[in-house]
Amino acid sequence: MSNVPVAVVTGSNKGIGFAIVRSLCKQFPGDVYLTARDAGRGQEAVAKLQEEGLRALFHQLDIDDLQSIRALRDFLKEKYGGLNVLVNNAGIAFKVRDTTPFAIQAEVTLKTNFFGTRNVCTELLPLVKPYGRVVNVSSMASNSALAGCSRELQQKFRSDTITEDELVELMKKFVEDTKKNVHEKEGWPNTAYGVSKIGVTVLSRIQARMLNETRKGDHILLNACCPGWVRTDMAGPKATKSPDEGAETPVYLALLPSDADSPHGQFLSDKTVRTW
Ligand code: NAP
Repeated sequence: MSNVPVAVVTGSNKGIGFAIVRSLCKQFPGDVYLTARDAGRGQEAVAKLQEEGLRALFHQLDIDDLQSIRALRDFLKEKYGGLNVLVNNAGIAFKVRDTTPFAIQAEVTLKTNFFGTRNVCTELLPLVKPYGRVVNVSSMASNSALAGCSRELQQKFRSDTITEDELVELMKKFVEDTKKNVHEKEGWPNTAYGVSKIGVTVLSRIQARMLNETRKGDHILLNACCPGWVRTDMAGPKATKSPDEGAETPVYLALLPSDADSPHGQFLSDKTVRTW
């Protein structure tokens, strides 16, 4: 078994994830895994970094596929005895002009952004070593979606005692409510992406609390963040940040020094803690 530190970035064949891997290759003292659901696209991305003189390793990972997540888990367990840095970056967004019915958009978006990310956490968080760093890439869209929720929902999502099971039930309820076309009446905002990212931000707050309760002595720091508005296939060419600039806050959180005890359980943008 290797004692080399290891970092894993989900959805990193392009966009912000790719830029996070590039930055970690330059700064992280260990093996950096670029992961992708499509092995061809992943290997191509690794080759592109190689041309820049950077060494990333590749492992397949589709966060929608539990078998794929478990294969990565077993690989990390066997080869490294765990992992040191996990960046949950993989995500999807329907374009504004997309005419797919809202209920389908809700189901598909929540499946990857919330349930897929949660499944990765369920399988990989127990493997995170002491002084490990976990970064969940959420979005400022979670904050604006929260502001668009009913007072009752806002209270639940801001609660310091909400459980992971309660959050999962709320995310399922959103999808069900869109199918019945009662989501607005039930207090939800009209954004599937925004609700999926509420899920990611609240999940991060819950996971950080759980780490405090069960692994306090392990000094693991877990946070959610927004990369900013970044020029990628998701956000388009008019966005204000380059992918390398978008990677700055996630990488800052992934490389928090070993003597840091904060931030933890926070939501950050531009390396600054934001109120939730
Ligand atoms: P992007 O260019 O569309 O890249 C998304 C990445 O996620 C791609 O590598 C994609 O792989 C991967 N992915 C999607 N579904 C996956 C799955 N099921 N399993 C594994 N990988 C999957 O988007 P981006 O702008 O870089 O976004 C990265 C993250 O930042 C997302 O979580 C997004 O919500 C968040 N974010 C972005 C912005 C922005 O302005 N760009 C703002 C706020 C937050 P494929 O190539 O195979 O599709």
